[in-house]
Amino acid sequence: MENQFRQYPLEEDILGALDALGYTQPTEIQAAVIPSILNGRDIIAKSKTGSGKTAAFAIPICNFADWEQNTAQALVLEPTRELAFQVKDELYAIGRFKRLKVPVLYGGFPMEKQILTLKQRTHIVVGTPGRVLDHCKRGTLDLSKVRYVVIDEADLMLDMGFIEDVRNILMHLEGKPVFMLFSATMGERLEALAAQFMHEPLEVKIENDTETADTIEQVGYFVDEDEKKLPLFLDILTMENPDNAMVFCGTREMVEVLYYRLRKEGIACGMLHGMIDQKVRTRTIEDFRAQGFRILIATDVAARGVDFQNITHVFNYDLPTNKEVYVHRIGRTGRAGETGRAVSLIREDEQKMLNSIESFTGVGLAILKPPALRMLKMLAVPF
Ligand code: ADP
Ligand code: MG
Repeated sequence: MENQFRQYPLEEDILGALDALGYTQPTEIQAAVIPSILNGRDIIAKSKTGSGKTAAFAIPICNFADWEQNTAQALVLEPTRELAFQVKDELYAIGRFKRLKVPVLYGGFPMEKQILTLKQRTHIVVGTPGRVLDHCKRGTLDLSKVRYVVIDEADLMLDMGFIEDVRNILMHLEGKPVFMLFSATMGERLEALAAQFMHEPLEVKIENDTETADTIEQVGYFVDEDEKKLPLFLDILTMENPDNAMVFCGTREMVEVLYYRLRKEGIACGMLHGMIDQKVRTRTIEDFRAQGFRILIATDVAARGVDFQNITHVFNYDLPTNKEVYVHRIGRTGRAGETGRAVSLIREDEQKMLNSIESFTGVGLAILKPPALRMLKMLAVPF
C-alpha cells in the first residue's frame, strides 16, 4: 500500500525517511496540522502525550530546511534536556537523507563546546529556553534566518517557569516566522503568549479518543490510610505481575521510598524525578526503553512528554489531584490497540477526586477487594 504521507507535497528524501521509520499513516494530530504548517499558517495544537506531535512539526520543518543554507532555519524549544534529545533524534531521522544538522543547546553543558558546534553546519536548532536565550544574548546563535519556531510542551514550560525566557527568545526573531505551540493543556498565560506572537493561528484540539480508553481496563483499590498503601501495593504488584509498568507518585519523596522498597524486595526498577541528575535520568529512560528493568517509578513532571512503548500497566500509587493528569497518565498504556491496565490506589478521602475523574472520562473504575497476600501475613505476625 502506498505511504499515506504521499498525499502531502513532501520531498522524496522526506518520504523515504518516513518509509524507513515505518510511518505510513499520519496520526490524527499530524493529519490535522501538517497541511497548514506546509502552508505557513501558525498553529496551536493540543493533544495528549504519544499522539505524534513531534513528527507533526518535524516533517514540515525538515521538508522546508535547505542543506545549502548553513544557518538556523528552524528553532524548537523544549522544557528539558531529555525532550530536546528525543526531538533531535526524530528531526535527525526524518531529515537523514537531507543530511540535516540539528545541534542541541541545553544548560549545564559547556558553553564553549556549544559555540564550536554552532560554528559547524547548522540547519535546525533544538534547545531549552535558558540556554538558547544565553546564546542569543551573547550573539553566538543567529536567529535572523529562522522561519519556523516550535514551542513544544508549552504547559510544562509554563510550570517550570520558562515562559518569560521563551517570550524573550521570540523577541529576537526577525520577519514573520511560522509559530507553532504544542501543549497537552491550554490556559490564559499560554493564550496570551500566542496572542502576542501569532497571526490568526489554526487551533487544533484532539480530544482523548474513547478508542484508547476502551483498551484500558481501569481498576481501583480503596485504602483508609497512607500507611497501608505500601503493603497493599506490593501485593497488587505480585498479583498483576506486569511486563512493563509505570508507577506514579505525588511527591519525589514517595518516588524514592517506593524505589528503595521495591529494590529491597528484589524487584528491578528505576525512578525519575526532578532532583535526579539529568545524566542519570537519561540513562534510566534508555535503560527502561531497552527493558533493562520493568518498573519505572516517577513524578508527573519528570515523566511528562517522554515516550515509552509497550507499557502494560500504569499504577497510580497516589491519585493525581487533577483529572486531566489522570487521563494523561493512564494514556501511556493501551496504545495501538493493545490492552492495558490502569490500577489506582484511592484513599477514602479522595472519593471526590475519583468522582470527578469518572465523570470526566465517562468510565467508572472497577473497585476491587485487596488481594491481601502480605497484609494477611502481616496480621498473622504474633504480638
Ligand atoms: P507526543 O509528542 O504527542 O507525545 P511523539 O511525537 O513522542 O508524541 O510520538 C509518539 C510515538 O509515535 C513515537 O514513538 C513516534 O515514533 C511514533 N509515531 C509518530 N508518528 C507516527 C506515525 N505517523 N506512524 C507511526 N508511528 C508514529
Ligand atoms: Mg511531545
